[in-house]
Amino acid sequence: MARRTARANLLSEPRGDFIIGEYPLPEPAPGTVLMKIELCGICGTDVHTWHASADAVGCEYPISLGHEISGTVAALGEGVTTDYVGQPLKVGDRIGVCPAIHCHKCYYCTIAKTPEKCTDWKTYGTWPRADQEPHFTGGYGDYLYIHDPNSVFLKTNTSAERTAFLEPMAVVVHSLLHANIKPGDTVVVQGSGPIGLLTIACCKTAGAARLIATGRRNRKRLKLARKIGADLTMCHADMPDPKDRKEFVFDNSLNLVGADIVINTVGTCDGFAECLDFVRNSGTIVEVGNFVDSGTFAFDPCRDLLEKGIRIVGSFDNEAEHFVRSLPLVADARIPLEELITHRVPLGDVQRSLDAVSQGRKLDGKEVVKVMMDPGLPERG
Ligand SMILES: [Zn+2]
Ligand SMILES: [Zn+2]
Repeated sequence: MARRTARANLLSEPRGDFIIGEYPLPEPAPGTVLMKIELCGICGTDVHTWHASADAVGCEYPISLGHEISGTVAALGEGVTTDYVGQPLKVGDRIGVCPAIHCHKCYYCTIAKTPEKCTDWKTYGTWPRADQEPHFTGGYGDYLYIHDPNSVFLKTNTSAERTAFLEPMAVVVHSLLHANIKPGDTVVVQGSGPIGLLTIACCKTAGAARLIATGRRNRKRLKLARKIGADLTMCHADMPDPKDRKEFVFDNSLNLVGADIVINTVGTCDGFAECLDFVRNSGTIVEVGNFVDSGTFAFDPCRDLLEKGIRIVGSFDNEAEHFVRSLPLVADARIPLEELITHRVPLGDVQRSLDAVSQGRKLDGKEVVKVMMDPGLPERG
């Protein structure tokens, strides 16, 4: 009997085209899971991989991109009876998956306890090359084959839409653990892209008393920022002078000394540099945004670090703990995650959508916050 086939949208080469291929569906091996994809969030990180600016990943092309995946269990390999935390699992259950795979053996996994720095780090969405079996290795397709036995997946009782935010939420939770917000804190979230907005949505839950969100020019996003938790927003277009922006933060910080915590989700050098203006003495800056090299700036270790006595932490990617801690956040109906979804597109529209994200322009006449790829949608004629 011929094996059933399904689609995967493969990126042929760096800066190349996305091409939909039809491949035989695998029978899950012992210890693995075949997941039927419901939605996959289109992410700026994919733009970097597409444009080959995220060269640290060292991918072998063609690859199947997409890592913000929600779906249901299509088939369970022998021996898989529960998810990562021991919830019983059966065919049809909705799951979210941690795309990064860590070895649980290296120095970083075991001694340093920072698995996100695993020396054998791999991730669904770029690994392994997708023109060879098992083919279904990324979120831009009909299925994901969770074929590595070290994979982490979690059962959820929330919607497919909310589950698709589990991965970016885990990025946010990781940064919030570094931020260590205390009750009464003033927090500045730099940037109101998807990660910035998710951060804004969670800061109050994490204890922030005053929350200031910043954005360059996209007023729709800043409006959304106020709707999901920001007390105040500051748009660069209205306040082009950095001195005014610093004054705004100081005047609006609860104790008038600047922000206790600044979380930078902007992928620019200038965005990071400005955090140094906003943070109070002995405050904390958490860097999440500069996923690819955006250049350098003048930094004075005496004036900028020692005299201010601040803490600067880089928060890279995520791991199992961040997924487990994110589950209740994505399930919390008080956080209006659905508001972030501006577009739903079929599988064939991945390239067009990434193009719009990359250039910061409208898609189908609408400002983009989050595009979701839905493999169930009919392709445009
Ligand atoms: Zn992402
Ligand atoms: Zn490791």
